[in-house]
Formats: sequence, structure tokens, C-alpha cells
Amino acid sequence: MSVFSHPEFDHHQRIVFGDDPTSGLRAIVAIHDTRLGPALGGLRIFPYASDDEALTDVLRLSRGMTYKSALADLPLGGGKAVIIADPRRDKTPELLRAMGRLVDSLNGDYITAEDSGSSEADMRVIAETTEHVGGLGREGASGDPSPFTARGVFCAMRSAVRHGLDREDFDGLRVAIQGVGHVGAQLARQLHEAGAHLIMTDVDRDALGQLAASLDAEITAPDDIVEADVDVFAPCAMGAALSPSVVERLKARVVCGAANNQLASPEIADMLQSRGILYTPDYVANAGGVIEIAWQRRQDYRREAVMSHIAGIETTLDEIFARARRENHDPASVADTLARERFRG
Ligand code: NAD
Repeated sequence: MSVFSHPEFDHHQRIVFGDDPTSGLRAIVAIHDTRLGPALGGLRIFPYASDDEALTDVLRLSRGMTYKSALADLPLGGGKAVIIADPRRDKTPELLRAMGRLVDSLNGDYITAEDSGSSEADMRVIAETTEHVGGLGREGASGDPSPFTARGVFCAMRSAVRHGLDREDFDGLRVAIQGVGHVGAQLARQLHEAGAHLIMTDVDRDALGQLAASLDAEITAPDDIVEADVDVFAPCAMGAALSPSVVERLKARVVCGAANNQLASPEIADMLQSRGILYTPDYVANAGGVIEIAWQRRQDYRREAVMSHIAGIETTLDEIFARARRENHDPASVADTLARERFRG
């Protein structure tokens, strides 16, 4: 396994490998950059096929958090942690407490939070052995970040339709939503309330049917959603939703959704640009959750202040789209440049 020459290494400040035979913990914590503040990023628990696969994932995700927090105007750096384990079979309180001790050994340079395979309940167990945990919720409120993420995507879409479709409202806007889980379903409700017409899909047909009926939405098969005759395509399911063949088939003129790492490879941004499709950089659009987690760390937490910070995503995207047009670049590379300007100073 290469580390310093790893294609995703990108000058990570610190990578820590944790092994605890008693609990079975095998974990990697990656701290990409702490120049703007401590590195906050979720804990993913996944049965990676190899150590290499786990390292690649944690490095890519950790770097992404640096960019996300920088463009969300947060006093935070980027980091991420992975545990190599099957969350359904191997997740035990002992394993989580051992993870907490590993996080604690970093003295606050890394702050952990939920991610796929880990829940708010798991964070409470981890919090028994370290104080460096985010996303626990305040005063008995849920720590689920998805309502905040959905609100951020809604604000992002306002900017995207302004720049991509020259529209100021969602009345009659046709939006295709791929995946109506935690974030997608709440985004759907907000768009419906704002007057949009929705076409949605999910591999979970039961949840999909109920939601679609309550929102007068059309349903389509998972394989057909990218070809839906819509103005906006909103990927809210898994990563790498935008491959070359998907880009060929898209009818939407705007892409704006919650999913992380939507571009299957960096060249896809160029392909979208040459087809005249405006791509909303995913980590800018989906920063609502991390913004709320960051506010939970402050003494002066106020819901209105959180919502107004999340609304700032629209302004950040206005700046990115305007600069992309001025410099004739795709929005993804403009977002990366802007983020680097912020965290590298
Ligand atoms: P989720 O698991 O609750 O929802 C995902 C939904 O997508 C599920 O309903 C699933 O059945 C569906 N799905 C999976 N594969 C599909 C396919 N091929 N076609 C159609 N539907 C499919 O997850 P979530 O919390 O809603 O997150 C959605 C995305 O947003 C993920 O990529 C996540 O990484 C990203 N994200 C989430 C948050 C958050 O606050 N939850 C924050 C930032 C980014």
C-alpha cells in the first residue's frame, strides 16, 4: 500500500492507523488540512474489501471535507475516519468506544460525526470516550443533519436555476429526484411547496409510492430517471451518479442535488459544460448538514442564524457560477479554485 505517493494523498497533514485487537477495531483517520480549524468529518463504517480500498476512500472523503468547510465559511478543516467492518454485524459498543479513544488521542485535531454505517446513537457511545464528537443534537433535539442538508440543496437550486435557466422561482419547474431517502424526501416536500412539479425514483418502491402520492409526483424507474423530460436533475442517492453515458442521456439543463461525489471522474464536469448543462458543485450544495453541526459547537447556537448561514450557499453559488461564466470554466473547477484560495490563504 502506498501512502505518500497515493493518487489521493494530496498533502494530507496526518493519517493515523488504529488497531485494537480486543474490540476488533481496524480504523484509519485522515486529517487533510487544519489551517482553517480542526478537521471535522464523519465516520464511515464499511466492510472494505482491502486496506487499500479503505485508505483511498478515507483520503478522498477527508480532502472533500476541507473544500466543503472552506466554501461553507466554517472555521473548520477537513478530515474523515473509516472503520473496516460490517456495520450490521461487527458494530459493538466496545468497537465504538475503542474508536472514541483513537479520536481522543488526536487531541481535538479531528472531530468525528455520523456518516454511512454510523448513527447518532453510535456517536453517543463514542462520546463516552472522547469529547471530540459532533452531530449529537442539542437539548434532546435530533442530531440528524438531513433537514439542514435538504434546505441547503433547495437554496443551491435557487442559484442554479437563476444562472442555468434564467428563472427566479420554482413555479412549474420540473425536477427529477434520484433517491428519496433522508435528504431527497425533504427536498421533494420543499420543492412541491414552492410550486415545482416532481418526477422521482428510488429502489425502495414502498417509500417512493407513499411520498409521490402525497406530493402529486410522477414515478419513474431508477434506470429511466436520467432521461426524464425535466429542467433540473437532482441526484440524491449514491455517489458517481454522473457517468459519461448518463451525461449523454440527460435532458435537464441543470444538475443540482445532495449526493456526495456526483462526478464519476473529474472530466465529467467538462462533458456537462460542453453539453450546456449547468453543474452545481456537490460539496457546495450539500453543506447544510455540516453547517448545522458546526453551529452546534458554538455557545450562541440559534436556529435562525443556522438557517441564514445555510441560505448563504445561494450567494456562494452565485459567485461560482458568475466566475465560471466570466472565465469560461466549469463550475466544479471554479469551486475547487475558490476553496483552495480560502484554505491556503
Ligand atoms: P439515504 O440512504 O437516506 O437515501 C438515499 C436513497 O437513495 C435511499 O432511499 C435509497 O433507497 C435510494 N437509492 C439508492 N440507490 C439508488 C438508485 N440506484 N436509484 C434510486 N435510488 C437509489 O441517504 P441520505 O442521507 O438521504 O443522503 C443522500 C445522499 O446525499 C448521499 O449521497 C449522501 O452521501 C449525501 N449527503 C447526505 C447528507 C445528509 O445530511 N444526510 C449530507 C451531505 C451529503
